[in-house]
Amino acid sequence: FYRPLDKISSVIETYPRGIAGFRSYLNLMATEPDIADRPGARPAPPLRGELRFEKVSFGYTPDRPILRSLDLHVEAGKTVALVGPSGAGKTTICSLLPRFYEVEAGRITIDGIDLRDMTLESLRGQIGIVQQDVFLFAGTLRENIAYGRLGATEAEIREAAHRARLDELLADLPLGLDTPIGERGVKLSGGQKQRLAIARIFLRNPPILILDEATSALDTVTEGLIQQSLAELAEGRTTLVIAHRLATIRGADRILVVTESGIAEQGSHRELIEAGGIYRGLHTAQSDI
Ligand code: ATP
Repeated sequence: FYRPLDKISSVIETYPRGIAGFRSYLNLMATEPDIADRPGARPAPPLRGELRFEKVSFGYTPDRPILRSLDLHVEAGKTVALVGPSGAGKTTICSLLPRFYEVEAGRITIDGIDLRDMTLESLRGQIGIVQQDVFLFAGTLRENIAYGRLGATEAEIREAAHRARLDELLADLPLGLDTPIGERGVKLSGGQKQRLAIARIFLRNPPILILDEATSALDTVTEGLIQQSLAELAEGRTTLVIAHRLATIRGADRILVVTESGIAEQGSHRELIEAGGIYRGLHTAQSDI
């Protein structure tokens, strides 16, 4: 009984809806039969997380290319933020990494291994995704956190909750981790849901992280807490941040400005400000708000 359940949940745990608006993993499997383990694919070893996109081309439909011969290298453990106009392809770049879609040309490697040579399960099991849309099920807080890694111990669950800054919420609830959530229990705010998602990933501890920054506003205190735990989560992991607000990515090791024609600029915050190009323009525009 447990086996199939275990198998499915280890693959879909953090991708119940994929990245922003993507269909569920199972739907995806039903509608994108091309994406499957290819003959000879092997379970990936524990990855360090060095990412390489080599001349990657991709479009959702053949008549409309989105990425054209994109090259990108991210050293293991570094944080790279993607900024740029809406529709430029930031989410698309990130969604190729867990192979939600297949590249048309070129290849993507992690630690030198082509994604297509790894089993999907072993690849996706090593990528954590934090997005606005958090998947919760009817159950207790403990069960919802433990969903990050079935079989986690009580101490590990508590540690993950602590690192995700859930202590205060738990202290306020008479039943603590045993509090049911959803219709019959506590209703979580947007910020609390995000912290729960972060706790799941702390628990699972994947070497690679994709952060799809929330577009909807959280209050400043919540925002600050979430930023802190996200920064902690990103530590030591290769992290791609899809950024909508520039203020949150100043600390990134590298910022990529993605436009419809590809990666137009890259560098640190300071370098890009000094260069006086697109990033500087975006920055000035956001500072005015
Ligand atoms: P935003 O900042 O608004 O999130 P983005 O830079 O992340 O934008 P993408 O979501 O990667 O941009 O979209 C790139 C282009 O691909 C857009 O023109 C978008 O309309 C198109 N696109 C995205 N997802 C799909 C899809 N599932 N099917 C078809 N076209 C898509």
